[in-house]
Amino acid sequence: MTEFLKAIPHNFKPGETALLHKALDFATKAHAGQKRKNGEDYIVHPRGAAIILGQIFPDTATLAATLLHDVHEDTGTPLEKIRAEFGEDIARLVDGVTKLGHVRFRDSKDKFYVENLRKLFFATSEDVRVILIKIADRIHNMRTIHHIPKDKQLKVASETLEVYAPIAARLGIGSWKDELENLSFQIVHPKEYAETEKLLNQEMAEREESIKEMQKSLIHTLKIEGIKFIEVSGRVKRLYSFYHKLKKYDGDISKIHDIIALRVITKSTGDCYAALGAIHKHFQPVPGRIKDYIATPKPNGYQSIHTTVIGKGGKTFEIQIRTDLMHEEAERGVAAHWFYNEEGKNHAFTRSLQAPWLKELRAWQENTPNPEDFLENLKIDFFKNRIFVYTPKGDIKDLPSGATVIDFAFSVHSDLAMHMMGARINGKMASIYDELDKEDVIEIIKSKNPVKVSPKWLEYARTNNAKSKIRAHLNQENRGLIQRVKEMNFTLPRFFRKK
Ligand code: MN
Repeated sequence: MTEFLKAIPHNFKPGETALLHKALDFATKAHAGQKRKNGEDYIVHPRGAAIILGQIFPDTATLAATLLHDVHEDTGTPLEKIRAEFGEDIARLVDGVTKLGHVRFRDSKDKFYVENLRKLFFATSEDVRVILIKIADRIHNMRTIHHIPKDKQLKVASETLEVYAPIAARLGIGSWKDELENLSFQIVHPKEYAETEKLLNQEMAEREESIKEMQKSLIHTLKIEGIKFIEVSGRVKRLYSFYHKLKKYDGDISKIHDIIALRVITKSTGDCYAALGAIHKHFQPVPGRIKDYIATPKPNGYQSIHTTVIGKGGKTFEIQIRTDLMHEEAERGVAAHWFYNEEGKNHAFTRSLQAPWLKELRAWQENTPNPEDFLENLKIDFFKNRIFVYTPKGDIKDLPSGATVIDFAFSVHSDLAMHMMGARINGKMASIYDELDKEDVIEIIKSKNPVKVSPKWLEYARTNNAKSKIRAHLNQENRGLIQRVKEMNFTLPRFFRKK
């Protein structure tokens, strides 16, 4: 137990320590006798996941739920028992993680599949803490993935790369995104991984000396200009984002300016701008390469000033300037906001209400609730007015609640909709006017020839997509009619025509 607590950089109060102790004990007993694929006791996994989570979000209830996250699913311990022992909040988190475990990823040609899967992830979890637990769970599984069969490794790693890493990015948790990408990149694209790694090592070996020199002259510059700063360090681009940039520039490494960057960490935003001024006074900036993400943060909340300057020997260097708080937020994202909030640091709480990642999440969904409610309840209800249904092949469709078979058919393909005679919902015959329920599997029954689009369809369509296509079709039919009347006009004798 002390080992577990020592691994988490946080001073827990006595009551919190007792709760964590109880949860670890409960999970150890429940999983007793169960082994992981590598022969270790099963408890190593939930304990490992809780330690991972504890690095960025040492919240006691969430950590207890992480320790218990596989108890219900894997040992058959009823949720009621967890609720009786640990209370409603922790039981709900465990239930959320269990439900989220049932959302399955598979390869799909549908271009919206992955995006809808990410949305489904948020819709199913209903609480950001559930997602944090689920990602910590996945990081631990990825760290120990080499013990499972190759084909399964590929499936888990693809899902990690397509779903988990982008979700971590969306929540602004840079450290988790980096680790998830790195661990899965080497399994999903082993050849590209090896090549990129080799290229990066070459580049670093070549530039090591000049970077060290530049670091020294930067420190010197800041000192003689009297700028307050905490440190100047070097940072190397992560392999996966390096790989993406290489692809973007057709492998032309000379076009990538931020492979190695220098990072200036300051105490205040004012010092960031002062540092930028001092650096530009001594080193010529490259035009068009100054980005002020402090004034205009990235959608996930990232803040920093980026500039590229010309150093000794005409070499270019990217320099990133940020405060220590911005740096921590870039690593911990949403978890940083909530933790500060709980600690009662009001400045961070106020800021988190306008957190750009929150806007991003809201923009993701057209029905946007009040952000204050969202933060207070820690609830994800962007998707409360949405249902997620499946095609027979398992593709996910994101529709508004109240949507009918007609909406579903148009969301798959207009051509399919133009041939629909009826449907099967979960294997049972249904009409095209029937309303859908969440998690329905819908199969459209097609006729051989296109069917006549009826104005009645408009009454039963809920989505703009279906409505606009139905309208366009009805208009076309009307136009056809008008056209025929016009043609008839030409065949009329001259004296019947208007002057
Ligand atoms: Mn697990």
